[in-house]
Amino acid sequence: MLISENVPLAPLTTLKIGGPARYFVEAQTIAEVSQAVEFARSRSLPLFVLGGGSNLVISDAGWPGLVLKIGITGINHRHGHDEVVFEAGAGEDWDKFVGLVVAHNCAGLECLSGIPGSVAGTPVQNVGAYGQEVANRIESVLALDLRDGQIHELCNQACGFSYRTSIFNTTERGRYIILQVNYVLKHGGDAYIAYADLKKYFAGWSEKPTLANVRDAVRKIRAGKGMLITAGDDDCRSAGSFFKNPILSADQYQALSARAAAKNLQIPSYPALDAQKKVSAAWLVEHSGFSRGYGNGPVGISRKHALAIVNRGNATAADVLALKEAIQQRVEEIWGIVLEPEPVFVGF
Ligand SMILES: Cc1cc2nc3c(=O)[nH]c(=O)nc-3n(C[C@H](O)[C@H](O)[C@H](O)COP(=O)(O)OP(=O)(O)OC[C@H]3O[C@@H](n4cnc5c(N)ncnc54)[C@H](O)[C@@H]3O)c2cc1C
Repeated sequence: MLISENVPLAPLTTLKIGGPARYFVEAQTIAEVSQAVEFARSRSLPLFVLGGGSNLVISDAGWPGLVLKIGITGINHRHGHDEVVFEAGAGEDWDKFVGLVVAHNCAGLECLSGIPGSVAGTPVQNVGAYGQEVANRIESVLALDLRDGQIHELCNQACGFSYRTSIFNTTERGRYIILQVNYVLKHGGDAYIAYADLKKYFAGWSEKPTLANVRDAVRKIRAGKGMLITAGDDDCRSAGSFFKNPILSADQYQALSARAAAKNLQIPSYPALDAQKKVSAAWLVEHSGFSRGYGNGPVGISRKHALAIVNRGNATAADVLALKEAIQQRVEEIWGIVLEPEPVFVGF
């Protein structure tokens, strides 16, 4: 196992920003993960676990300790009655994995096609898109517990999934290194077509769209929004959606709607748990003076999606932070809502 020094991290992220790692290693096996953990522990180095780098803002100073990239690969599957359980190595490419399960005619993840990053990244923030979330498909997560040094299999409930959260990015942040994720999928199940974009795409089709049709549609729709990593498309040099859609109580939602009505506007919203409402962060950003294509400098907003902060070439992490703060401040002034960032900030 080769431990390198002063390794630039920017190329390992989709935003292409950030300084170097003091030490860097890629672990291909569970034994190598343990060795890397021991290396960091014996030298009292802070440890950061890297996946595909698609949900990160890395500071200009970089990371002062060890960056451990998880490169564990391998996919197995076992058949149940009408279900198939796929056991995927943490370092497998997520979109390649979705392509494989769709090719096996297994339903449940097709709407999550085209999301960049690794398999391990998906339970961390309970990845979701077009009405599907991994929380509905994860059977269990195999993880190394840095507290007791043991490998545990956490069942779905133990992962504490909610909108863009799990124990891995909230209460137990930094405790587990995810080694494998097990997904339970429905063999021969129908494709999920619930969101407006997909309904519009398939309007007029006489035959029922297959899982492969939906995967293809999702990737095309995402490409149109700069949400698919595509060579030559500057609008996808981002960390995806920069802010979470705010979840509001009935009272908060009423106050926001009143502000919108005073401007003759109506805010798009979706039902959330209980009496809550999820409102569109993209709408709030756009209606606070930050429209698509905003910014002439090194950092700006994607021309295809108001929620993506993009690196136009030579942006620094400080540039990204300044724009993030400007957006948060304006949205709060105008709408009374504090937007919460979605990416993970590393080394700040
Ligand atoms: C263009 C674009 C579109 C996107 N669209 C979506 C979308 O539609 N829906 C959505 O939910 N997200 C989306 N994202 C965000 C991102 O792709 C996902 O969150 C992805 O799952 C992150 O995985 P990753 O492997 O890149 O993780 P990284 O960015 O490398 O890491 C993210 C976090 O996970 C932790 N982590 C990574 N691997 C492990 C591990 N093995 N063990 C423990 N912790 C680990 C890291 O420490 C970090 O805290 C998008 C991003 C981009 C750039």
